[in-house]
Amino acid sequence: MSLHILFPHLRGFRLLSSDREAKRLVLICERVTPTALCPVCGVIAHRIYSRDPRTAWDLSVQNVQVVLHLHVRKFYCDQPSCPRRIFAERLPQVTSPHGRFTFGLRESLAQLGREHGGAAGARSAQLQGLQATERSILRLMHALPLPPIAAPRIIGLDEWAWKRGQRYGAVVVDLERKKPIALLVDRSQQTVAHWLKGYPTIEYVARDRSKECAAAITEALPHATHVADRWHLAKNLTEHLDKVVSARWKQLTKAAGEAELPPEAVAASVPAHRPRQSPGEARYQQLLALREEGHPTRTIAKRLGVEQRTRKPLAGRGAWSLCWTTQTTTRGRSTGRRVICGSDGIPVSATAHSSGRS
Ligand SMILES: [Zn+2]
Repeated sequence: MSLHILFPHLRGFRLLSSDREAKRLVLICERVTPTALCPVCGVIAHRIYSRDPRTAWDLSVQNVQVVLHLHVRKFYCDQPSCPRRIFAERLPQVTSPHGRFTFGLRESLAQLGREHGGAAGARSAQLQGLQATERSILRLMHALPLPPIAAPRIIGLDEWAWKRGQRYGAVVVDLERKKPIALLVDRSQQTVAHWLKGYPTIEYVARDRSKECAAAITEALPHATHVADRWHLAKNLTEHLDKVVSARWKQLTKAAGEAELPPEAVAASVPAHRPRQSPGEARYQQLLALREEGHPTRTIAKRLGVEQRTRKPLAGRGAWSLCWTTQTTTRGRSTGRRVICGSDGIPVSATAHSSGRS
């Protein structure tokens, strides 16, 4: 059987020997073409300088990894004007000049990385008989060429942090296809304008308030319409409202004081009729029962598993209230939580929302 039926990329090679080891199949091949092209001047070279062994890992056969031991030659370049005197012949169908994986293996591992990621891709490769580490798969995946960009018509241009607080670039999003299509190294007018000039099909640009971006769009796409994006519209509105409220703060507080409802209207934080008894109410009934039995507050709090002291009432009056409690941890950090308290200020619920305050 010819070598090229299973290994079409080895056309131009002759199989010298094969060896089946435990987990791999080793093929020793030599080049049979008599000449090679100089990679610098492109002239055909005939004189062989030496033969050097080279190893490349190939796709598996029957889940057995294939390893190629290739006898690669070095040639003299006889072109007088060429600066390269000796060169190693290239293997454009097999692998790159310094590659350890064949092109087929590189593509297969990169696809595994795209489908499964680094760690899972490495496990899948092992099941197929391919020996590759997680880092190798990620490196091959990142080396894949990006898909071509369809001509965008409506784009969004916004800030992008290469490293938060230190280095910022720009991200370009195709808003019709809802896909990011470019990451620019910085937000300078020159960089943004250079990218925009490559896409004259753009008609609308949603952007932030950067003056450099506005100038770049005007320079590269004078016909395009500028649109403020949704986040910056909300930001603009917030800032204007803040100015209006700040300027009329006295009048607003005075009007709010006149319109304040009587205290009894807001006192009831618990509805009069509830179809079921809540867990907090059950705990409160336990608390009342323990108090009637004459237990001190510390014992009651310990039995119910709640904090003993409350600090600050937050909302609610009468039989129930929402309070802020604080306690100090063993590391000396002060933490707090919101709890539901009874009329005497003792928490009856440890299940309210909690948060930390340092
Ligand atoms: Zn040459």
